Amino acid sequence: MVSGQPAARAGTTGAARAAARGGGDVHDVAIIGSGVAGTVLAACLARNYARVVLIDAATHPKFTIGESTIPFTSMMLRLLAERYDVPEIKHLSTFEGVHANVTTQCGIKRNFGFVYHHEGERQDPELRTHFQIPKILNTENHYFRQDIDSWMLSVAVKYGTEVRQQQPVTDVDIDDDGATVHLASGASVRAKFVVDASGFRSVLADKYGLREQPTRFRHHSRSLFNHFTGVRPFDDVARPDEGFPSRWGEGTLHHLFEGGWMWVIPFDNHPRATNPLCSVGILMDPRVHPEPDCSPEEEFQRFIDKYPDIAAQFEGARPVRSWVRTGRLQYSPRQTVGYRWCLTSHAAGFIDPLFSRGMSNTMETVHALTHRLLDAIRDDDFSVERFEFMQDLEQGLLDFNDDLCANAYVSFGDWRLWNAWFRIWALGQIIATFEVNRAYAQYLDSRDTAVLDRLEHAWWRGKAFQEDSPYAPVLELLREVSELCQAVQNKELDAGAAADTIMARLREADFVPPHFGLADPGRRCLDATFLDVLRMLRWGKRKAPPEIGRLTREGLTLFMKKRLAPGEFELGEEFRQYLAGRRWLGRKLRVPDPMKS
Ligand SMILES: Cc1cc2nc3c(=O)[nH]c(=O)nc-3n(C[C@H](O)[C@H](O)[C@H](O)COP(=O)(O)OP(=O)(O)OC[C@H]3O[C@@H](n4cnc5c(N)ncnc54)[C@H](O)[C@@H]3O)c2cc1C
Repeated sequence: MVSGQPAARAGTTGAARAAARGGGDVHDVAIIGSGVAGTVLAACLARNYARVVLIDAATHPKFTIGESTIPFTSMMLRLLAERYDVPEIKHLSTFEGVHANVTTQCGIKRNFGFVYHHEGERQDPELRTHFQIPKILNTENHYFRQDIDSWMLSVAVKYGTEVRQQQPVTDVDIDDDGATVHLASGASVRAKFVVDASGFRSVLADKYGLREQPTRFRHHSRSLFNHFTGVRPFDDVARPDEGFPSRWGEGTLHHLFEGGWMWVIPFDNHPRATNPLCSVGILMDPRVHPEPDCSPEEEFQRFIDKYPDIAAQFEGARPVRSWVRTGRLQYSPRQTVGYRWCLTSHAAGFIDPLFSRGMSNTMETVHALTHRLLDAIRDDDFSVERFEFMQDLEQGLLDFNDDLCANAYVSFGDWRLWNAWFRIWALGQIIATFEVNRAYAQYLDSRDTAVLDRLEHAWWRGKAFQEDSPYAPVLELLREVSELCQAVQNKELDAGAAADTIMARLREADFVPPHFGLADPGRRCLDATFLDVLRMLRWGKRKAPPEIGRLTREGLTLFMKKRLAPGEFELGEEFRQYLAGRRWLGRKLRVPDPMKS
């Protein structure tokens, strides 16, 4: 086993290889929680000879929330698959890969749709923003998590992970040589290191009092969610608009309103769908929308009754599960790492599902933790210093997300501010995606993990930044926008004035690519057409600041070269998806179901 690199393929199973390493009943790593964090981590470790035990209080398949992916999440999944040699993980990185290899129960995500509402009024088509996911990247997913998580569990098992289901962990004792994990059954498990991936109910956070009281986070929201049948596509009930590159129903739809937003994540939004469900949730700032004294069903009904187009979308729809209603969602950690233990990101803290960053944070954490653990196992040295970076990473991810969500909620109070803030979010998305695309492509070509360091120490995380960094102007813009939003929140600045300043900054900045309409408040659809991409490449070469120009060119071209590489994308499945639902001589084409063929 070498520093975070995959082990050479052996003919034996992971379990046999792990057993051959000896060590008796002591595992290298005990992971508490077999959600997406625990299963992906277990698969990556076990594939590289680590002896892993994965313990969960529940049994798969089980209902889990966190369904919408973003390009950054999918690229991190690709990177994990390559770096740790678990090719199955790559299937999760495209809609087509999931559909062909994992489950047909997921939905497609072609766009991020945001529609802005005023209470009591029909939704105005002028108040819509749309971010189209460029086809040169890939098509994102609406994961039906119970299928994804249980499939990932089987991948972890395939590589030798030992699994204990229906075994709640009640306590963990750490000593000089390792950790004893106590189970509710009275049994215990011994390991050299414990990863707590048990999410919100983190066992170690509870034991060590790791939650900050009160949380340091600015952001406030509570939630209410369920799965439904019979939710109509927004396109079918809303007033028509100018037309966007994909239907609202083909993406993750965000209904925005003062003090909150609502997600609509359909699983039945493509021609070969087999799952009639749609995930729906409302997020509200409790300072604006305190929890009413009624049932969650009643609260949901009262909410949709206020917005005519949302009410129309839910006419005839039916919730299929018990409602989940939470208190304030935000929690923050004092510490995420200690001697022989580490929390994964959802166990460490949480902000808000807005912009779907939960799983991307999880995958960044798993990526950084896996190679540190493999090195520690190899050297039999689990000193805290080896894992200290995890603390910086996780706290940085949370603080970044806190700022992003808190400012977005401020912008929900005024369409003009939202329309400006949307562009800041989009700019961040584009730059971060270029970074991860470039890192992935360079890694594929060189197999040198040094090219991934830059990603691990991403320049956009953390509060402090170096003034001489080539990215300093980008960070300066983010900081200024955050200050403007806070001034609006504190009623020191008018939202329209803040929006005007943000738009002016976007127009002035030499690092903002001019071809997507980021600086044009009238362009409500951000879509990179092929022509836009060509123009952007020329801009990157001739006009952009050198480092941003290089990032733009490499982020686009290096990854585009991989788009047709064998084994990288499910091109056959993309073609079948393209054909599905099309008509030939008046009849719908029949495309085979991958799970039956
Ligand atoms: C309302 C909401 C909406 C979200 N939407 C999105 C989204 O659209 N996109 C996105 O990327 N992210 C989203 N997220 C975040 C996403 O859910 C998380 O990032 C992701 O699920 C974290 O996975 P995990 O494996 O860390 O935790 P979980 O999926 O919560 O898994 C934790 C596991 O630990 C087990 N466990 C708990 N306690 C114990 C114990 N004592 N002993 C043994 N096992 C235990 C549980 O049974 C469970 O299997 C959302 C989060 C919330 C709260």
